[in-house]
Amino acid sequence: MKKTKKQRIPIPIELSDEVLKLSDRTCCVCREKGKDVQIHHIDENPSNNSIENLAVLCLQCHNDTQVTGGFGKKLTSGQVIKYKNEWLKIVKDRNDNLAKGIQSLDKQQCWDDINFDNQQGIEGAILGVGLNQNYVEACPKLNIFQDAINCLELLNYVNIIGESGSGKSLTAFQIAYEYSKKGYKVYKYNGKDNPTLYSELSPAIYILDNAHLYKNVANTIQQQAKKECKVICVFTDVINSNENSVRITSKQSVNILYEYYTQNAEQIIPIVKKINKKV
Ligand SMILES: [Zn+2]
Repeated sequence: MKKTKKQRIPIPIELSDEVLKLSDRTCCVCREKGKDVQIHHIDENPSNNSIENLAVLCLQCHNDTQVTGGFGKKLTSGQVIKYKNEWLKIVKDRNDNLAKGIQSLDKQQCWDDINFDNQQGIEGAILGVGLNQNYVEACPKLNIFQDAINCLELLNYVNIIGESGSGKSLTAFQIAYEYSKKGYKVYKYNGKDNPTLYSELSPAIYILDNAHLYKNVANTIQQQAKKECKVICVFTDVINSNENSVRITSKQSVNILYEYYTQNAEQIIPIVKKINKKV
């Protein structure tokens, strides 16, 4: 039986672009990324350029459609259709999830969104209430601040180690604040779940406070750190210092605060008086 030669009609470029895009430029059968691919006419009719008839195949899988004889070896048109439909759905779901990435990250249980929109005066610092992200502007920076940023730039993560009450958490927030000005989102671990880092759509900086309580989490997220995905771990003084750490002591931070207070005495003394009146 002689096959009549079918006339090949070139696939319009817009159509081939669309077919390749829907298949993520990946063979729909073996799905190995990076292989050379071509557009295959499922019904073997090169003049039938309807989108249903076009499938992206690598050269190897395409060869499998050409096999003659050898039962079960041939990649039949029916199989190609099944593989194709399944693969296009996988690609579509993956793209949808990627697009939803930021919302799902915000909703993720283990990372709290941190913003710096509610800055408070120095009063809270003097009162010694828990210094959080709302005091990054009012409080002076400790001398480890720049060291920690250098470390983050170099390694994409830094360990801040210090005694209890030495200002290390506030320093972590102050560093994150600097990055937030550069467009980084800021997240803080809240102790739930096993965290993973995401940076699909915008760069982010992740803070793990009380990291001595979550050593496994600290290890995991440090390994995932990268340029667009930076990690600050804050340890109370229980681990040995190493070159990837910056260390503060209460004495250092007290000295810096003292210096700051004396330089800003005019502003601070009325606050102290007000507090004393309350007491
Ligand atoms: Zn293939």
